[in-house]
Amino acid sequence: MRKGCLVVVSGPSGAGKGTICSAFLERASGIAYSVSATTRSPRRGEVDGRDYYFVDEESFKKMIDGDELLEWAEVYGNYYGTPLKKIQEKIAEGKDILLEIDTQGAMQVKKRFPNGVFVFILPPSLAELQRRIRGRGTEGERDIEKRLAASEGEIKMASDYRYVIVNDKLDDAVSSLSAIVEAEHCRASRNQDIINEIVNN
Ligand code: ADP
Ligand code: 5GP
Repeated sequence: MRKGCLVVVSGPSGAGKGTICSAFLERASGIAYSVSATTRSPRRGEVDGRDYYFVDEESFKKMIDGDELLEWAEVYGNYYGTPLKKIQEKIAEGKDILLEIDTQGAMQVKKRFPNGVFVFILPPSLAELQRRIRGRGTEGERDIEKRLAASEGEIKMASDYRYVIVNDKLDDAVSSLSAIVEAEHCRASRNQDIINEIVNN
């Protein structure tokens, strides 16, 4: 059985992570999306259980205390975390799973899963990042300022990732993510069982 890939995507708010991941998941087959838990309020159009598990702070703390999260972090004033159960299930099945999480969470995952595929999404420029986050229109000005203030520090973390994708043209960025995952599937270290099977038969 081929070993699945744990794909971790991060980047500053407004870089286009969500847009890229949705387009990639539509195209790709056999890769599951890890739905995070968060204490932030749902945006218009977001669905509980599909985009996030929207929980209150008390429930989130219970998840931490119960060791139910692979990682968690406070990001832009809210808590976000990755439920461990689904990750364990997918890994046991040898399936791929995609996590879209912040840099603090990604570094926690990297410690536990150093063979994960860590991908950082960059905006073409900070000016374009501002345009995108404002253009999205999902946050008020204070929240936008908070997110933009964090962006330079987040971008400096990009060198701790294995891959960076500059999200200039959306289609190109999605193709790059597909190519990265495809190439990772071909790593010899993920295909040792196949190598052994051929040699032993
Ligand atoms: P993130 O998930 O990183 O916070 P989003 O995916 O929500 O970012 O994208 C932020 C905004 O930028 C959205 O309005 C989205 O439609 C837009 N966007 C994403 N990718 C591109 C792109 N390549 N070119 C122009 N606009 C983009
Ligand atoms: P947003 O509020 O824009 O959906 O997400 C804000 C930030 O939280 C983004 O950087 C996003 O990647 C991150 N995030 C989403 N889910 C998780 C998670 O489960 N864990 C961590 N650490 N960050 C997350």
